[in-house]
Amino acid sequence: MYEKVPHAGGVLRNYVAGEFVASNRLFANINPVDGSEINRVAEADAATVDAAVKAARRALHGDWGQMAPAVRCQLLHRVADGIEARFEEFVAAEMADTGKSFHQARSIDIPRGAANFRIFADMIKSQSSECFQTPTDDGRGALNYAVNKPLGVVAVIAPWNLPLLLLTWKLAPALAAGNTVIAKPSEETPATATLLAEVMHAAGVPAGVFNLVHGFGPNSAGEFLTTHPGVDAVTFTGESKTGSAIMRAAADGVKALSFELGGKNAGIIFDDCDFDEAVNGTARSVFTNGGQVCLCTERLYVQRPIFDKFVAALKAKAQAINIGWPLDENTDMGPLISHKHRDKVVSYFASAKAEGATVVTGGGVPVFGDARDNGAFVEPTIFTGLPEHARIVKEEVFGPVCHITPFDTEAQAVAMANDSHYGLAATVWTTNLPRAHRVAQQLEVGIAWVNTWYLRDLRTPFGGVKLSGVGREGGVHSLNFYSEPTNICIKL
Ligand code: NAD
Repeated sequence: MYEKVPHAGGVLRNYVAGEFVASNRLFANINPVDGSEINRVAEADAATVDAAVKAARRALHGDWGQMAPAVRCQLLHRVADGIEARFEEFVAAEMADTGKSFHQARSIDIPRGAANFRIFADMIKSQSSECFQTPTDDGRGALNYAVNKPLGVVAVIAPWNLPLLLLTWKLAPALAAGNTVIAKPSEETPATATLLAEVMHAAGVPAGVFNLVHGFGPNSAGEFLTTHPGVDAVTFTGESKTGSAIMRAAADGVKALSFELGGKNAGIIFDDCDFDEAVNGTARSVFTNGGQVCLCTERLYVQRPIFDKFVAALKAKAQAINIGWPLDENTDMGPLISHKHRDKVVSYFASAKAEGATVVTGGGVPVFGDARDNGAFVEPTIFTGLPEHARIVKEEVFGPVCHITPFDTEAQAVAMANDSHYGLAATVWTTNLPRAHRVAQQLEVGIAWVNTWYLRDLRTPFGGVKLSGVGREGGVHSLNFYSEPTNICIKL
């Protein structure tokens, strides 16, 4: 089934100073659909990471540092062209690593991976800087203006849920702003990052500008990067507790940090909503990518008059989800990323049941009677009946599951939605316009959607509050993070 996957049965290597580099330590890259080994991955040791950081520093001071933004921009468009030219290989690699559906990999992950390069390449050409005319006592005045310089050598650490999309969401603006990078994809999803290194190489990106190191977090490539004194900034997407570990590791070097972390996103459904739109949108927001999107909704608050009807309608949606082989065009949902992650999700199912939840649907592991039984599947799951302090209502599960609680008043819904250590995203479903604005503005989140979910404009600020992150990405917000403005004051 996976013979079309690039490097199937081979070894995925690191990419350092313009060369593909092997390693004595290999780890297996496992397909979560059937538990088979796709290929092996060369884990970068401390010396490889050190070589990557030094190559990045050399490149920063070399041709790349001198390159005009317009030329950088052309090069990044060539990278996007290269991804598109190898589109089917990228799709096959992403599907094999994650088990995500054909439809999703083709329509979201890989196209967005290429688009990220185009968007930020174009944006850098119109980046502006500040200029102030400053009065002085002698009446001649002064001119203050800022020039943007790159931050320097940037470590980009990415998660497994949207591997190419989230890696390039950081890489593209970092490179567009003139930085050099060392990328570390998740150990669960090393393949599309390796293809990207091949594309960068073929596009003529100078040696050392983009480096790729494979490996794990603690005592591996992740930690070697975040503690390396030659790294100026770390941009990270992943779990909140990993974010704190990275913050500690980066403290000695006072590195610049940008964090996109976990969430426990709420959906509030008022009885004046467009019912069908709310059900369809909520089904997407709970179950897309098996619930493994940081923006997915895991807590639903439904106004009491429509509570029973809504629960029944969402149950019907969950039961209609086709779980299965990623290559089957009818498949809506694949497996979770790994058996380890499935164990975690299933343990949350067990704790919800132990705390007395009503299982509306799912709550278990599907049985197929074929090779998928060796995979990491779980059933789309809905619980009701738990108090707000229950674990499954408080902690991020990162699976195809939600808990639904009834509410009576708007104030109650807002209070319950905000009663979380996280603050990434929320959705509100209502046809009452003043209420839509009122509620959305009270929610303690980085992104509030009204009558939609995951409708993204890449220029908007993207990020979270509380445990969900530090800083904002997207459009000019990304470019600002990856740029270091120097103020120049000229006395006239
Ligand atoms: P994770 O934190 O386990 O791993 C993310 C990356 O960090 C991996 O590359 C991993 O190898 C590396 N890492 C782990 N420990 C490290 C350490 N001590 N030092 C340096 N690197 C280390 O996260 P995950 O399981 O891959 O991804 C799922 C999580 O990501 C969820 O919590 C999800 O909400 C979050 N996420 C957030 C966003 C967002 O935009 N806010 C987007 C996607 C995913």
